[in-house]
Amino acid sequence: VKENGRNGYTLYKSEFENTALHKLTLQHELIEALHLKQFMLYYQPQYDLVDGRIVGLEALIRWRHPERGLVPPIAFIPAAEDSGMIVALGDWVLREACRQNRAWQDAGLPPIPVSVNLSFRQFAQMDLVGKVAAILEETGLEPRYLKLEITESMTMDVERALSYLKALTALGVGISVDDFGTGYSSFHYLKRLPIGSLKIDRSFVRDIQQDPNDRAIVAAIIAMAHNLQLQVIAEGVENEEQVRFLQHHRCDEMQGYYGSPPVPSEAVENLLALGRVE
Ligand code: C2E
Ligand code: CA
Ligand code: CA
Ligand code: CA
Repeated sequence: VKENGRNGYTLYKSEFENTALHKLTLQHELIEALHLKQFMLYYQPQYDLVDGRIVGLEALIRWRHPERGLVPPIAFIPAAEDSGMIVALGDWVLREACRQNRAWQDAGLPPIPVSVNLSFRQFAQMDLVGKVAAILEETGLEPRYLKLEITESMTMDVERALSYLKALTALGVGISVDDFGTGYSSFHYLKRLPIGSLKIDRSFVRDIQQDPNDRAIVAAIIAMAHNLQLQVIAEGVENEEQVRFLQHHRCDEMQGYYGSPPVPSEAVENLLALGRVE
């Protein structure tokens, strides 16, 4: 696991991490951690690039481990996916994000959508739509305040993706394509699927200042998305130069350390009250 100070992760790495025994142990620990309520969600604001207001929040899971500290998703999501446990974990994330968003609204904060990452396994579930509907009902969150983030690879089976996404959007839930440009990309699916927004992967945003190819790619994604009536959000925005470039190309929103790192739910309240970055 790479250290990431901005996220407050604790650094830990060992040879043991890649062994089969470790994987098995980890899978057990994850099931236990869910029972012990050791998971928590951080939230990263998404900012409107025209007026600087917070227009959304992405829910990002962390594991608050009693000895290891705050464990990043990269250290346990793959194991949770392998074992299938991601489905139970994903249900928890969905419910918690919806519950929290509703609680913020009840506290009088400006209502904005919360985005939740879906894993492939969750997306492939037969009853995903029913589950989402039940969680919205249970938490009392209006569907328009929930967005689901899928990745390009989930759309490979276009017919299947089409039927799921149609049912989800019929509920009133928004759909974003995450890490856009890094996976299987077909313009075919963009045209056919009921998608609301694209998130430009941070690998393209990172070197905007130095790399003319990345500038060309980012500008092209924004233009294409707008031609398809999709909103565009840039990920991993870390500095003002990147913001200016994105504004110049009329990118709609940004997310990244420049605005704010992911923060615990208690800190979201202050951010929402504060409202904008200059
Ligand atoms: P992602 O969906 O692409 O999330 C964005 C990641 O980029 C987050 O890492 C966030 O902390 C990080 N990030 C945000 N701004 C910046 C920036 O300016 N610079 C850099 N270098 N990084 C930035 P995080 O929270 O460690 O999550 C990593 C990945 O784990 C996520 O990537 C997502 O694929 C997965 N993940 C997180 N939470 C969940 C979850 O609840 N369910 C599922 N299935 N996957 C999750
Ligand atoms: Ca995401
Ligand atoms: Ca992403
Ligand atoms: Ca990513």
